[in-house]
Amino acid sequence: MSDAHGAARLTARGVVRRYGGIEAVAGVDLVALPGRITALIGPNGAGKSTLFDCLAGTVRPDAGRVLLGGRDVTRLPAHRRVRLGLARTFQQIAVFPTLSVADNVRVGAEQQSRRAGRSDARAVAERTARALRLFGLQAVAAEPAGAQPSGVLRLVELARALAGGPRVLLLDEPAAGLDAAQTARLVSVLRGLAERGMALLLVEHDAELVAELADSVYAMAEGRMVAGGPTSAVLADPRVSRAWGGVS
Ligand code: ATP
Repeated sequence: MSDAHGAARLTARGVVRRYGGIEAVAGVDLVALPGRITALIGPNGAGKSTLFDCLAGTVRPDAGRVLLGGRDVTRLPAHRRVRLGLARTFQQIAVFPTLSVADNVRVGAEQQSRRAGRSDARAVAERTARALRLFGLQAVAAEPAGAQPSGVLRLVELARALAGGPRVLLLDEPAAGLDAAQTARLVSVLRGLAERGMALLLVEHDAELVAELADSVYAMAEGRMVAGGPTSAVLADPRVSRAWGGVS
């Protein structure tokens, strides 16, 4: 189920990634569906970031496949996956500090123009403005990103990822560093994106946020999936609360 601009699911099939003797990801299946918010949870060292990197293309799996829509992207590098509509944010915030907030967001908007095979300055400006508005960033748009507090930078990163018009959005701890108002805004923006057909997959430590936001949850421990399914069922699963180190 994929076309040039439409909805797409992201699928991991039997993904394995080893570091030395450790299987950081030990044969994992996962599907992030269009129109749904999917969460990936688990204790430190469970393999969440490694799986995330395999999905985004910054880490190559040793075995298994990654599919974006119907297309096998396992061997495609991250930037090629971006062009196919896969965007991500990072746990460690990654913005260009000397560029303005607006220019950081524009980078994402330009990626979509490249995907569409054209460079339309007005469309880029409109997508940039829309993404800034979505996160209430107009007031700081002209200021250097490096001068902003971390909560604002998190929103800048999200706005940049969205300005590219992705079909699938990977979010690595999107609420880290956000205050209550910013988190509320994040929740409503992410819900709106899912309602419009985007597939969202987030790695998140905050159990309350997962319970509030996610339609379905995958729980990892020691490189394996220990549970997967509707959020309330997975969070109530004793194997998950045990593996999640008592966070509830
Ligand atoms: P956290 O919640 O702390 O981010 P995580 O669930 O994302 O943890 P990973 O970071 O994927 O877990 O780590 C899984 C395992 O793989 C750990 O044992 C980790 O030490 C190991 N690992 C991850 N990346 C590397 C690497 N680049 N080199 C060596 N070992 C790694």
